[in-house]
Amino acid sequence: MEYYEPPPNPLTLGLDGVALVTLWSLLTLLIAAPIADIAARAILTRCFMPRSELRRRVSPARITIAAVAALALAAVAGWFLLAPALNPALAAADTTSDAGLQRDPIAVNHAVAEHFPQIQDIAGFRPDPFGEHEQGRALDVLIPGDPTIPQSIALGDDIRDFLLQRANELGVQHVIWRQHLYRADGTAEPMQPRDSDVANHFTHLHVTTAGPGYP
Ligand SMILES: [Zn+2]
Repeated sequence: MEYYEPPPNPLTLGLDGVALVTLWSLLTLLIAAPIADIAARAILTRCFMPRSELRRRVSPARITIAAVAALALAAVAGWFLLAPALNPALAAADTTSDAGLQRDPIAVNHAVAEHFPQIQDIAGFRPDPFGEHEQGRALDVLIPGDPTIPQSIALGDDIRDFLLQRANELGVQHVIWRQHLYRADGTAEPMQPRDSDVANHFTHLHVTTAGPGYP
């Protein structure tokens, strides 16, 4: 499934990225800490001690529960909200590195780069709550320039055909291109429209492979 703008490899976070992540974590902690403290109080009151007792002392258990909950909230919020938000700022990659990729997408990456020298950007591993990119078994092949002109559409069609013809060899399961899903077995179907050209795969092909395992 495709939900994000195809980004560069997040393993190559630059200094800006690190600074942003740090700042975001601190801000989130500031908001999460009081919420977590209230939750910790409630848990302790209900399970372990009367309210009057709790009020008199700040127990180590309460501090521990609050700290752990705040850190967890900050980590989850950071992963889901910040990682995609950071991507445009960090767009730098040419063709993707093989970092984080399983064997099939590595083969696809190299085959597309070799046969289609006009392709400059292939995005691979990235945080993806829905799986395929995070599992390292999907790639996004970005069509350079204006994706609406006939040459771009023809290029995308060629790459799709190339991948499907070599589906066995490359482990390709399906390709998504221009709001259609094309399976390795030759079947195809239109997809429900989503809210952007990126999400509708007019700007890039999404390639899902079997995996299967890391080199
Ligand atoms: Zn994708």
